[in-house]
Amino acid sequence: MKSFVIITLALYLSLSLALVHECDHKGDEEIDVYTPEDIHLLSEGTFTPAPIRFTFDDNEIQNLSDQNLKNLLLKSIKTAQLFYEDLIIVKKPHQSDIVITDKQCNYHDFSHYPQQSNSDFHVYIQIYQLSSNTIASAQACQLNEGLDFRPELAVINLNAQYIKSLEDNYYNFQMISKIVIHELFHAIANSPGLYSRYNNIQGYSNNALKFPNILKWVRDHYGCEDLSEFPLESNGGQGSKGSHWPRDFLNNDINTASFLLGNMVWSGINNALILDSGWYDIKDYENKNDPINWGLKRGCDFLITGKCNSQFPEFCTNQDQTDTFIYSGIGTCSSNKKDLDVFATCPYIFLYSNMECQNPSNNNNKYNAQLFQDFNVVFGSTSSAFQSNMQPKNTQDLSKETVLCYPNKCNEEKTKINISFDRYTLTCEQDGQVLYPPKESNFKGSLTCPIIKDFCQKQVQCEDFCSSNGYCIDGKCHCIEGVTGDKCECSENKDLNQPSCKRVQIQNCNIYDEKGNCIKCFSSYKLKDNQCFVLNVFKSKLTFSLLLIVIMLSLIF
Ligand SMILES: [Zn+2]
Ligand SMILES: [Zn+2]
Repeated sequence: MKSFVIITLALYLSLSLALVHECDHKGDEEIDVYTPEDIHLLSEGTFTPAPIRFTFDDNEIQNLSDQNLKNLLLKSIKTAQLFYEDLIIVKKPHQSDIVITDKQCNYHDFSHYPQQSNSDFHVYIQIYQLSSNTIASAQACQLNEGLDFRPELAVINLNAQYIKSLEDNYYNFQMISKIVIHELFHAIANSPGLYSRYNNIQGYSNNALKFPNILKWVRDHYGCEDLSEFPLESNGGQGSKGSHWPRDFLNNDINTASFLLGNMVWSGINNALILDSGWYDIKDYENKNDPINWGLKRGCDFLITGKCNSQFPEFCTNQDQTDTFIYSGIGTCSSNKKDLDVFATCPYIFLYSNMECQNPSNNNNKYNAQLFQDFNVVFGSTSSAFQSNMQPKNTQDLSKETVLCYPNKCNEEKTKINISFDRYTLTCEQDGQVLYPPKESNFKGSLTCPIIKDFCQKQVQCEDFCSSNGYCIDGKCHCIEGVTGDKCECSENKDLNQPSCKRVQIQNCNIYDEKGNCIKCFSSYKLKDNQCFVLNVFKSKLTFSLLLIVIMLSLIF
């Protein structure tokens, strides 16, 4: 019986590739090649730089019968649009309509759509249904011939079948909007067809970039002054290599070639590329990015392809299981399984989907339910992985510390971490400090604090992922129109359906779901009908430990 449990769990934990998004940018080279003679077409007029104006033709989304899917897609696009409007200034905005001359763009026929007014960039959204891991793709088409040859038309493809299969929650909303941001980035600046048309700058050859702002950023980031160029991704298929940052060098940047579990970030290199195009300026260049620690100040050695020195904490060896670099969960070293990540030459910790701390769906996962109920492990936007074996006093499950997820928050100075554990707050004030549950609690075991400064620098996620009502950058929410609040949780017309605006405090409730229902009471209380009741008899001893089984996985691999 017990071996049966181990096998099913092992199968389950065998890595879900479902959330991996690979890019598919076939036909990127459809943009016509301009000869030097075309230069005289460049307009000499005067322009007033202004925030980029996107227009979207979302007819195919409007026609979807599934209302949830429709709302999810429309809001993701709105959020991505806001992201770029807040970020990009167009140097030469359109003063007249975009006249659509490229009638065939990415299999979409624009013959019945001659022009678009009040726009710097028009995007047609194409919906398709495909049973694969490709979530989206993008292609820029027509360039702005009369102005500065920047792209002004694109088609974005969204795989409705795949997106529909995702649970409808804040976490997945954030992922979809980040994917739309990724695709739009290909259309406005990030593709081989565009690099060679950047204004007046030669900086693209042999699958590497040497544009001035890119060089400045990478030299500073890696601490490698001698760097003369930065390579693009060289692994993967046609749609992936040559138009993304290399996985080995910028692991979790949003513009690498696939979406990983954990927090994908918009690092400063993306703003550098936008500037290098010459078509745009960036509003608030220094602040509009997420910190990225991958390769930070590791020196030139870090950038030697294939060196993969496991002395760098970014990389792992086959035995490693826990993500001690970004503190986002339990995983396996990518070298343990073939083709886990085709873009990685250097092995890194690849998270198990049900062991990723930030995904709230993992609380309901049937294999995690015991962790959630008995061990006070909580998966959610503010949770991170800690070395711990805190457990109920009447169990013998965890003799040694393993990795468990708890909600936490660093102080402003990044010198302390407050960790929520049941009704208690445990505070890390020193690196490696060992914390214990309070004596009066029903818990025993310990938690070992991480290196606090390092840990706190990596916590860039927004609480509740901005409630699916905005985007998160550098730990702050920016809300779409009509929504306010630190977490974009309140609608401006005081719509009482917004959870945190009306949240009813349920006595002795520890964790609420997105709708404001109690999903977990404090220990020694029992949840029934959205209320917490005193538990009279404390539960009998647990019969087996899921955690020990998780740890045993290394043997199975
Ligand atoms: Zn893509
Ligand atoms: Zn891409």
